[in-house]
Amino acid sequence: MVLDNLGSSLRGTLDTLQGKSRLSKEDVDEVVREIQRSLLQADVDVDIVMELSDSIRTRALEEDPPAGTSARDHVLRIVYEELVALIGDSTDLPLEPQTILLAGLQGSGKTTTAAKMAWWFSKKGLRPAVVQTDTFRPGAYEQSKQMCERAEVQFYGDPDAEDPVEIARRGLEATEDADVHIVDTSGRSGLNEELIEELKEIEGFVDPDRNLLVLDAAIGQGAKDQAQAFGDAVGVDGVVITKLDGTAKGGGALAAVNETDSTIAFLGTGETVQDIERFEPNGFISRLLG
Ligand code: GDP
Repeated sequence: MVLDNLGSSLRGTLDTLQGKSRLSKEDVDEVVREIQRSLLQADVDVDIVMELSDSIRTRALEEDPPAGTSARDHVLRIVYEELVALIGDSTDLPLEPQTILLAGLQGSGKTTTAAKMAWWFSKKGLRPAVVQTDTFRPGAYEQSKQMCERAEVQFYGDPDAEDPVEIARRGLEATEDADVHIVDTSGRSGLNEELIEELKEIEGFVDPDRNLLVLDAAIGQGAKDQAQAFGDAVGVDGVVITKLDGTAKGGGALAAVNETDSTIAFLGTGETVQDIERFEPNGFISRLLG
């Protein structure tokens, strides 16, 4: 268990437990308070924070530290295990032929993520192609094309076409020698019927192996509603959190993971095609608590 970068206040509280072999109720309350503070600051949904606090409190008081483990390490382990249980491992992404559909609101980072993921798959030895069906946002075609050129991956789009399903049909045909198809879709500035209907149509036609919901790390409390709407429309298998290079810690996205019973697939950490990381719980949890 590696939890580096813990926030100084949480670290301080934990350090007061150094040398203790048992935790008092006051010790546990103090640790739980610090954890709550960090998680709420990281935009984690308040209900999730409360649920998590209860399980941490119960376990910390009921379970004795294993022989040779200090109270500090014991409680830290419980915190970590409970967070891992909540967040889950990274979304399963076998390195084999597949079709992935990206959904999300406008500006969440879908187009950028599509090219990044294609780059990521190409580095794993696969032959990805991006199919750009966003006919709504002016500039999406050009941006997507340029990023795919930089990533040196196949790209299909049509700036003159209006029907996303027709673009998807032609795109999948034109790139049939690719083994991983990443289908980008258009967003809207907010959730609306048009977006959901369009997405359902594309999803119905493309029949992807996985649907990933792309969320801006700064999403905060809006994540739950978005996840519910996208989940009801097409199902969400995994979440991509973008813009983690900024100040937002992405804790809001946990509500989306919870709501759709999914996991996190990738993290976006910048604007270039290489700025993508496969999700890994340790680093993310450290960051949430940092
Ligand atoms: P879309 O409307 O969902 O396709 O969103 P875009 O892919 O166009 O992204 C919206 C803006 O966010 C663009 O200016 C991107 O360069 C930027 N962006 C996307 N992902 C990241 C990221 O991980 N970090 C940073 N700093 N910017 C990002």
